[in-house]
Amino acid sequence: MQPMNNEELTRRALALVAGRRQRAVTLAQQRTEAALQQVPALAGWEQRQAAAGLAAARLAASGAPEEQVRQALARARQLEAQREALLRDAGFDPAGLQPAYTCGRCRDTGYVNGRLCSCVRALVQEMRQRAVNESGPLALSSFDSFDLNKYPDTSVPGLGLTARAQMERVYRYCKDYADQFTLENPSLYLCGYAGLGKTHLALAIARQVLEKGYNVVYVSAQNAFSAVEREHFDPEGRTMDTMQDAQLLILDDLGTEYITPYVSSCLYSLVNTRVCRRLPTIYTSNIVTDADLQRRYTEKIVSRLLGSCEMLFFVGEDIRLQGK
Ligand SMILES: [Zn+2]
Repeated sequence: MQPMNNEELTRRALALVAGRRQRAVTLAQQRTEAALQQVPALAGWEQRQAAAGLAAARLAASGAPEEQVRQALARARQLEAQREALLRDAGFDPAGLQPAYTCGRCRDTGYVNGRLCSCVRALVQEMRQRAVNESGPLALSSFDSFDLNKYPDTSVPGLGLTARAQMERVYRYCKDYADQFTLENPSLYLCGYAGLGKTHLALAIARQVLEKGYNVVYVSAQNAFSAVEREHFDPEGRTMDTMQDAQLLILDDLGTEYITPYVSSCLYSLVNTRVCRRLPTIYTSNIVTDADLQRRYTEKIVSRLLGSCEMLFFVGEDIRLQGK
């Protein structure tokens, strides 16, 4: 996925809305022209109607006798009724000559009283959802499709629990985390060997939190940080902003990115910014121990990162190799 920031998404949504407006207006114009050709008597009709309406309004404003105002209004309504009758006789639906806007609130302008219309915000949300969908097998990654039976019912040494029992706890925790999500939620560090369902549960959370209307960004660490590295000297680059601004950031497969000093400093800055803004982040990683993390990153990064997270340990056997 190419992460996009709010500004970019809003720009695209406004372009979509403008396209809708143009289509609605063009279609109405085409029908109006067709109607005029077929019913020449309609030429200048709208101006006459408008003039009649204006005359009635003037009379009312100038304090003319009520009877005069009433007659003027009736004249305007009569013109309207005659126009509709002419159109119907010629086989036109009068309503079809008005632009049929997708959004009645903003008439497909994207703004109501100078503020973004709810239809634009809905489109932005839809585009985010699509971006997340494209980045992972989200259709498969719901809580419902997570199968605990794939985890062995055998005890895990040192844990005092079976793998399945541990994973049931993890599953429960993630489900509650998503069900009761607010920006007060803690960050999570989902760790364990490959193929134990970390990405599945992270995406299941992402999907549910998105449905609640939050701005969720999902990125794989590998793609995200190669974009960050590419954008090093590119003022147009938005990947860091997108990751820093998301209300919930899912940084998948931490540890697979190519580390350079620049990437390392960006990771610290990302973790630190999100901790300071109190925005939750979900990391998934195959790196399980502090020592391994510190070997890869610096102690400064690791303590900042883990200090803000609840750690959830995934155990079992590679479930991707089962039941295929
Ligand atoms: Zn609207």
